[in-house]
Amino acid sequence: MKRYLISLDAGTTSIRAFLYDLDAQAFVHRAGQEVENSYPHPGWVEQDADEIYYKAAYVLSDCLRAAADGTVLGVGITNQRETVVLFDSETGDPVYPAIVWQCRRTSAFCASIPKTDAQRIRRKTGLLPDAYFSASKIKWVLENVPAARELMKQGRLRAGTVDAYLIWKFTEGKTFCTDYTNASRTMLFDLRALDWDEELLAYFGVPREILPDARPSDAVMGEMKLGKGRVPIAGIMGDQQAALFGQACLGAGDAKATYGTGLFMLFPTNGPVFSESGLLTTVGRADGGKVVYALEGSVFHAGSGVQWLRDEMGLLENAAESERLAASVADTGGVFFVPAFTGLGAPYWDPDARGLLCGITRGTRKEHVVRAVLESIAYGARDLAECLGRDGGALLRCVKCDGGASANDFLMQFQADVLGIPVDRPVERESTALGAAYMCALALGYTDEREIARSRRSEKIFTPSLNRTRYDGLYAEYRAAVSRALTR
Ligand code: ADP
Repeated sequence: MKRYLISLDAGTTSIRAFLYDLDAQAFVHRAGQEVENSYPHPGWVEQDADEIYYKAAYVLSDCLRAAADGTVLGVGITNQRETVVLFDSETGDPVYPAIVWQCRRTSAFCASIPKTDAQRIRRKTGLLPDAYFSASKIKWVLENVPAARELMKQGRLRAGTVDAYLIWKFTEGKTFCTDYTNASRTMLFDLRALDWDEELLAYFGVPREILPDARPSDAVMGEMKLGKGRVPIAGIMGDQQAALFGQACLGAGDAKATYGTGLFMLFPTNGPVFSESGLLTTVGRADGGKVVYALEGSVFHAGSGVQWLRDEMGLLENAAESERLAASVADTGGVFFVPAFTGLGAPYWDPDARGLLCGITRGTRKEHVVRAVLESIAYGARDLAECLGRDGGALLRCVKCDGGASANDFLMQFQADVLGIPVDRPVERESTALGAAYMCALALGYTDEREIARSRRSEKIFTPSLNRTRYDGLYAEYRAAVSRALTR
């Protein structure tokens, strides 16, 4: 009889379920559904919370069918972070569409938060006041949706991140809880006390009663009906933290970098470390009675630059072609690209900066431009690595990569060269889903951290060039290009 777990990845653009064979330590089946995003006003991003639930249930059933030769022993969940769902605890009906992390509707409010308040928020939550996080989104619904206020008066309103909403639905209203990694992205959660913070709750006007219980990532959250039986829901983590765990970055020293639309780098630290360079402090995971913190840096645009070359510039047939074109020239011929399509994130935090292509000569060819776009992704990671080096208190030894653009060998080699450390690409690049499967296995006692560390397999390790002078020089030129794009 085979032993399976299901890892549910409720992402921003899709909901996917992965059937994990505990003995083979591998995914043996996967199912996915696209999630629709709507943009009712410029800068606003919403999703239908019911759709998230129905599609999650659908992909779970698909995996269950594929597990007919064995038993499903548990379900782990990883999810898009910060996105909030407010719903009626009697009917389960959402009172408003899910407000997605990318939604900027509260940016004016967040920009108006005085510096002294921002510092207090930062010290407690590890986050910078920004529309990205959940607190101001919940506040917005409470202020703008009369039905939400009415339900709140009646004690029926609940507000949670996607994990909490799904757990509530799956347990048929028996459990309303979240894990510390998700809670740490709300801007209402005290990183050290590991609890909702009264002062912040009052600041954002969010009553504690409407929020889920926050528990460790390895808590058994409840039981759900799956087919004819019932299985535990255990192992809950925000997507970036799950990827960190899925890459077996268990302690300080190794970072993971996810090269998708944007670039997300996370680095486990010994205790919460507060960055001086614009990185965020977050809960990396909480299991076995301990909490591992992490520093996180995000660059908003990475693979999206490649999409832009394909869709808007017409320079590429597909993203993969960028590799061949970039490798066909020895360098960019002095061209640099700054991918500030919607401003610059860490470490610059300049929302008004815009993209820049510079160093163009009469001899510049499309291959040079494509290469400059790929190189800019690697320079973005170097920016983050420099911050980690300054703030992280541990030397970065290696970067474990995943995400769509990590398939690009040219980019990964250039990344190793620019960082001066190895870049390690795993066999299983679905690190997020793998992290939730690992956490589920850990929660239910089927594995331990030592086994997780052993089970990660490298597909390819890109070793850095010895020519540090060349790559440091290129990076310095990139920084000069960034300084021309900055508005302050
Ligand atoms: P997300 O999860 O953010 O949607 P994915 O991890 O699916 O992103 O990666 C998709 C992104 O990676 C796209 O922006 C695409 O342009 C880029 N990408 C995919 N394959 C390659 C490649 N071979 N070379 C460079 N970029 C790529």
